[in-house]
Amino acid sequence: MEIKYFDSHCHIQFKNFDQDREKIIEQMRVNEVGGVVVGVDRLSSEKAISLATHYTHLYAAVGLHPNSVEQEPFDIEVYRTLATHPRVVGIGECGLDYYRTVKINDEVKQAQRTLLSAHIDLAAKLDKPLIIHCRPTKGTYDAYSDLIELLKEKKAIYGSAVHGDIHFFVGGASEAEALFSLDFTVSFTAVITFTHEYDAVIRQVPLNCILSETDSPYVSPVTRRYQRNDPMSVKDVVAQIADIRGEDAEKVREALVTNAKRVFRI
Ligand SMILES: [Zn+2]
Repeated sequence: MEIKYFDSHCHIQFKNFDQDREKIIEQMRVNEVGGVVVGVDRLSSEKAISLATHYTHLYAAVGLHPNSVEQEPFDIEVYRTLATHPRVVGIGECGLDYYRTVKINDEVKQAQRTLLSAHIDLAAKLDKPLIIHCRPTKGTYDAYSDLIELLKEKKAIYGSAVHGDIHFFVGGASEAEALFSLDFTVSFTAVITFTHEYDAVIRQVPLNCILSETDSPYVSPVTRRYQRNDPMSVKDVVAQIADIRGEDAEKVREALVTNAKRVFRI
């Protein structure tokens, strides 16, 4: 099928979709929506691969989310094996979360940094894009500063083998700028359909540095607020990006698919 929309970050392997997963995947096909099914731990990474093996419009990413590490000790060998599967197009989600963690202190931050560092090493050695979750303390950009510092260190070691996407971007224009110069794109969810907080960044950044995503089952668009989200809402995200930028919807749609294909090498 031709891919007309690309959801760079969804979790349709989660149990939220156990009742109608096949139907959702078929709807994606009919609507020409492709997507990356992103793992947050070992089991969800394995499920992502399984889906990507069965459906040509689905791809997989494997990783251990910073908020999953309490339930699952990180075993790099497990992820190394998963990451070499031919349907795996990205490493993640991995990253830094200073927002949701109940207790955030230097020790927790250091542990998250170590975990993220291992993911970056793995991605660089396999030359696969990283899918990074980065959530700062409310009202700050602290996690972005730490992320950018770590990526610069890694870039000095691995060069162009360090690249990827910063998912659910909530940083400012200068963070975005720093990330682009490190070969990263930023992606936006349907959160942009009900808040104008990110409009300025979306207007400022180059179109070729943006990806579309849904992060479903989370953050439904304004038309379906508080309901379970699904990858079809990537259409709302693309339309909203075009609207905010004041650009032709078809031009933006095409560019966002091209960007995703470039980043995930599909
Ligand atoms: Zn996610």
